[in-house]
Amino acid sequence: MTFNTEVVGCYWQEDQGQWKVKLRQTQPSGQSREFEDCCDLLLHATGILNNFKWPDIEGIEKFKGKVGFPRSMAPSSTDFKVDDTHSTLAG
Ligand SMILES: Cc1cc2nc3c(=O)[nH]c(=O)nc-3n(C[C@H](O)[C@H](O)[C@H](O)COP(=O)(O)OP(=O)(O)OC[C@H]3O[C@@H](n4cnc5c(N)ncnc54)[C@H](O)[C@@H]3O)c2cc1C
Repeated sequence: MTFNTEVVGCYWQEDQGQWKVKLRQTQPSGQSREFEDCCDLLLHATGILNNFKWPDIEGIEKFKGKVGFPRSMAPSSTDFKVDDTHSTLAG
């Protein structure tokens, strides 16, 4: 098992019948190394909210209130509280 490691690419190798996975491991010092591994079965479990894309809403940059994505609205989050505010949910 490796920690602090990001999957940067997954490539199906038809001739070998395996996935080639490119990984980037970052040390606490900030130094990183890239390496490859392979597997027969690849389970994609990266979540749906980790690499989100903002919808294209015209004029959103001029909105004076707070704008948040569900990920930043977790009860433990200190940067986004909806209590006692007028809020709109889009989507
Ligand atoms: C505000 C909020 C409240 C919620 N409340 C509830 C609740 O009360 N009850 C409930 O059942 N569900 C709740 N959910 C939903 C629940 O959190 C998700 O459904 C669940 O976490 C999804 O689990 P997952 O393992 O699929 O993804 P995640 O928990 O998102 O885990 C994915 C992991 O993959 C890692 N990852 C992403 N990309 C890469 C990459 N390229 N390389 C390596 N690692 C990567 C991420 O860092 C992360 O650790 C809530 C979600 C939100 C946002």
